[in-house]
Amino acid sequence: MSTLSLKEPHVLVISYPAQGHVNPLLQFCKRLVSKGIKTTFATTFSFSKSVHIDHNTLITFETFSDGFDDNGPDQFVPPDVYFPKLREVGPKSLCDLVQKLDGLDALIYDGFLPWALDVAKRFEIVRAVFFTQTCAVNSIYYNVNRKLLELPLSNSVVSVPGLPPLEKWETPSFVHKFELYPAICDLVLSQFTNIDQADYVFFNSFYKLEEEVVDVMAKLWRVRTVGPTLPSMYLDKRLLDDKDYIVNLLKPNHSECMNWLSNKPKRSVVYLSFGSLIQPGAKQMNEITRGLIDGGFNFLWVVKSSEEFKVPTEIVDGKSNNGLVVTWCPQLEVLAHESIGCFVTHCGFNSVLEAIGLGVPMVGMPQWSDQTTNAKYVEDVWGVGVRAKPNANGLVSRQVLDSCIREVMEGEKSIRIKKNMIRWSDLAKEAIEEGGSSDKNIDEFVEELGKRKT
Ligand code: UDP
Repeated sequence: MSTLSLKEPHVLVISYPAQGHVNPLLQFCKRLVSKGIKTTFATTFSFSKSVHIDHNTLITFETFSDGFDDNGPDQFVPPDVYFPKLREVGPKSLCDLVQKLDGLDALIYDGFLPWALDVAKRFEIVRAVFFTQTCAVNSIYYNVNRKLLELPLSNSVVSVPGLPPLEKWETPSFVHKFELYPAICDLVLSQFTNIDQADYVFFNSFYKLEEEVVDVMAKLWRVRTVGPTLPSMYLDKRLLDDKDYIVNLLKPNHSECMNWLSNKPKRSVVYLSFGSLIQPGAKQMNEITRGLIDGGFNFLWVVKSSEEFKVPTEIVDGKSNNGLVVTWCPQLEVLAHESIGCFVTHCGFNSVLEAIGLGVPMVGMPQWSDQTTNAKYVEDVWGVGVRAKPNANGLVSRQVLDSCIREVMEGEKSIRIKKNMIRWSDLAKEAIEEGGSSDKNIDEFVEELGKRKT
């Protein structure tokens, strides 16, 4: 890490308040710091109250208001109330922060906070948007925003330049079921209303992973892939202190998980997690429970405390012979452990990138948002897993789950999936290593900031 001086460019990075956004944006901050950029990170005051932050870093932490500063930790506000308030209060609060930080050179804002671009314009600083979801998903949203793709989707197969043909249900849920989530649909589409004015468009992805769609989008904007943003010690190992994410919404049951895994045979454990937001229904949780018990594989299952009531007590209490249920785990360490054979995931993009980076084959059980499209890529484009398809009632049955796990752990497809996984994992490392595509893109940004400063 280099030492900071007054001459060094100063960048403010702001994140939408969710674990899956804060993780990649903070990791990007670490890369900027390692390249000599003074970096301040901010998310909302209300979110910062609910998380544990490890302040042992050169990143400076600040907050801005979303209008819910007095809310208690984890207090739920419905999207149709939250987004308009954030839109109303956020810009003024961000202006105050930019003024306070005096002398900022650039604002890197989360795509979910598009109004931040106008704040950056007002201060005449470099404006860069950072997307935490794939180029493919964002390309679909862009096409809808510009009316190149009309809602409701009329054709059974959806065509978007740079993407494989998609069935309707493989597009993000905010597109194929837009009427169910009007506030969130507005939010994801609004990311593109002013994007033409951004100086840089960053993606937490890497070039080879999404080559075709990146090339299409690069004709529109200054697109730069800068991922994957996993901690360096899991990829290029250049940032010696970068072993973990530094913000945790929930406290991981670290020693319990790692001790339990330590005496399991290589590639024998199925790891299941549905991320920080998803709450599968009681019927689905029951199918998962039965699938795991009947399947007989060792399993480590993350069931958030708010969800525990949906799982039989003997499973939660660890009385089942082959499983451990925890409320949160150190996911990176778990995925990196040699005992893990497969990851049953909701296909949140951070989880997918982590599985790719650490070479763990997946069973996708997408629930909503971008997960449906990510799962399509996992199975059909990258070939690093299979999708557990829901039945007519929207449930993945115990039999389907078990047969997908079996396929990935030991079935015919498993050899090809593992081979593909090794290839993608190597490409992920190559992208972020010195001189790799993502590393070069970050260097280019840093150099441009440096030039502006002199
Ligand atoms: N995660 C974790 N421990 C867990 C479950 C998840 O640390 O027990 C982390 C995971 O490593 C990932 C993030 O939480 O970085 C979840 O992000 P993702 O995009 O996968 O899903 P989201 O929570 O946004 O739905």
